[in-house]
Amino acid sequence: MSGNARQGGDAMWAFEPERSGDHDPPSVVPFTVLSVDDDAAFQQSLRLALHDFRFQGAPLRLLTATSAAEAEQLLATTPGISAILLDVVMETDDAGLRLVRAVREELGDHEVRIILVTGQPGVAPMPQALDRLDISEYWLKTDLHRERLQGVLTGNLRTWREINALGRAKRGLQQIVHAGRQLAGLRDLGDFSRRMLLELAELLQVPPEGLVCVRAERRDAPATEARVVGAAGRFAGLVMRRLDEVDEPGVRDLLLRALGSGTPVETPASQVLFFEGDATSPAAAVYLATGRQVDAEERELLRVFATHANAGMVNVDLAARLDEVAYHDSLLGIPNGNALQRELQRHLDGPGPSGQAMLVVDLGQYAHGSLALGPEQGDLLLRRMAQRLRQLYPSPCMVARLHEGTFAVLGPAPLLATDPVVALESVDHDHALPFLGVDAARIGLDGYHGSAREATAAGLLMLRGLRAGGGHGVVDYSPEGERDNRRRFLESRALHRAVAEGAIRIELQAQVSLEDGHVVGAEALARWTGEDGTEVPPGRFIPIAEATGLIVPLGTQVIEQACQALRAASAAGFGDLPIAVNVSPLQLRRGEFVEELVAIVERHGLSPRRLEVEITEGAVMTDYQAGREVLARLRRIGFPVAVDDFGTGYSSLRYVHSLPVSRLKLDRCFTAEIGGGGSERSVADMIIALGRRLGVDVLAEGVETPMQAEWLRAHGCHCAQGWLFARPEPLEAFLQRLRARAARG
Ligand code: C2E
Ligand code: CA
Ligand code: CA
Repeated sequence: MSGNARQGGDAMWAFEPERSGDHDPPSVVPFTVLSVDDDAAFQQSLRLALHDFRFQGAPLRLLTATSAAEAEQLLATTPGISAILLDVVMETDDAGLRLVRAVREELGDHEVRIILVTGQPGVAPMPQALDRLDISEYWLKTDLHRERLQGVLTGNLRTWREINALGRAKRGLQQIVHAGRQLAGLRDLGDFSRRMLLELAELLQVPPEGLVCVRAERRDAPATEARVVGAAGRFAGLVMRRLDEVDEPGVRDLLLRALGSGTPVETPASQVLFFEGDATSPAAAVYLATGRQVDAEERELLRVFATHANAGMVNVDLAARLDEVAYHDSLLGIPNGNALQRELQRHLDGPGPSGQAMLVVDLGQYAHGSLALGPEQGDLLLRRMAQRLRQLYPSPCMVARLHEGTFAVLGPAPLLATDPVVALESVDHDHALPFLGVDAARIGLDGYHGSAREATAAGLLMLRGLRAGGGHGVVDYSPEGERDNRRRFLESRALHRAVAEGAIRIELQAQVSLEDGHVVGAEALARWTGEDGTEVPPGRFIPIAEATGLIVPLGTQVIEQACQALRAASAAGFGDLPIAVNVSPLQLRRGEFVEELVAIVERHGLSPRRLEVEITEGAVMTDYQAGREVLARLRRIGFPVAVDDFGTGYSSLRYVHSLPVSRLKLDRCFTAEIGGGGSERSVADMIIALGRRLGVDVLAEGVETPMQAEWLRAHGCHCAQGWLFARPEPLEAFLQRLRARAARG
């Protein structure tokens, strides 16, 4: 390796004018040679023979040891010994060879040159041993007169220099590879440049003291506008300063020269590397105070290092741009979910309380709006929402878009105390249009123990939980609420699998005539055996299915199975028997519901008369007009329609006369009141009377006692369902019941 070797454009070394780069600077570092011999007279003559010896201008430092043990000690504690003159026979016949083995194998020094000397002819070690232990030469003391000794030493020192240079280069390259690894993962220019200074200092074995400057992005910007992006040692305080603010003129001028000329600069006490960047990354320069001249090998290593680091800088710069892409919402020009999460994690990781809170705000209107009005309107809505949120929560709050119409605001808790729902739903002066259906969840970070990802997930779950419970507004985080939400979330995933795998079954509960006890129909009830083998009651999983939308495929499966049950009943000779299915508002609201229902009964070759649709009173009332419409269509096609849990929503009584239904199901809470002994007219009585006046059937639910059954029959209710007659049961058991009833007549 040589400092004059042809080098790439990024490494045309410019030398300080006072120093010419054509030859190595005179090195004043002496060479160290160790003489090991128990013969004091030989040591003395050696010292005399070498007192004026110089190798390439450098003097010799001669160390002496009189035993192998002493020599080993010296070797272990003195770095940079270039050669050993070693007496073979000392304490023992093989003390010399043992020492060589220790040097090579135990101390691991494969560079030091070893010259064996002996006073006795005939004790020469075998040539293989010389070779294996890398012993350069073997001399009889009597042959080593002054000139020969100096010649032998010169030859060995030259060899040592070469081997040592190679070794240093190898270690240096390993260091560079190591540095490359250290630098590879860093994406932040500040981290990268600081690390680079440390690695560079390590490579040259000098303290880290320097700075890294990057030119302004504008191609025509003067070099003085370069910025310090990383610094170490006495320069540490300069990060983010402009280069012309660096108050050491010597250092500033060197960096300006490197940036201006596009070449590295070297002085007897410092190195300035230059990175040319690439088409999209600006150039950079690194100043490192070395406090000494570097030699030719080091210069070559610096060149290799610079090439590596240049590629690294370009990558980091690219990473910074990717960052821009990865952390920005391109539509709204605000931070995205990744950015929020990164910021959130920073707060959560920080020491002690941060006083921060997060709001997750969802624009419920968006999903419907963008579907109904088209994507342009949807985008407009989002832009207005982002703008409004930023008005409501100005800096230092961070407003980010998570996805679709869901935003998050991160900021000091007191600033997030404003109720976003009230604010957003009120008329805003600029646009005179309120946002509708906004819900928000608020989490105080100081009371929160979890990751950023979990915190945003908790916020979203809180919103979902709020809506699933029919609520609206702002929910505040509480660990209990989260535990609840978590459980619901896990259950919803399990339910998802169950629906996907078709693991939802139905049971049938008989409906009987109160006149003669005959089975006149059945209700299909969904059943789910959870993954741990326990039955999950529908009162638990149906609300989850409704909140997650799973109710749609689940409902279809129930209808399918009800139709299969109807066919089985026909096959068993009960071809008139109807079965009722529960249909939730979400199913009913889908435009294709009626067509799908018709398609299913047709596919099974069934008359619509045999599939009764049960809808809760509340469901009809929430969207009265649309609900009425669908029910009317169902009735026209011939499907019986029952209002489930009737009587639990009093306000609806005045609408019921215009509802196109064929049956009212008296809620079981009213059945339970029967026989309570009150003298005033019971609700059950009123509902039965209402049914009679409207000409629709009334079926009493939850009949558990013969007394209730008798009272209902006596008051003109002809149909009932309840444990008194039958519990919900699998199809086979239900068919068995039908056959048994028929046999009795
Ligand atoms: P629901 O539609 O009112 O169903 C009647 C509920 O009352 C059933 O509970 C049934 O087992 C229970 N029941 C029947 N007779 C008696 C009795 O004598 N005493 C008492 N205490 N209870 C009785 P289940 O099966 O737990 O279902 C609960 C609710 O889950 C149902 O109430 C219904 O709202 C919903 N559900 C069940 N299956 C489905 C389905 O396939 N789709 C939809 N959307 N909802 C369903
Ligand atoms: Ca029902
Ligand atoms: Ca009911």
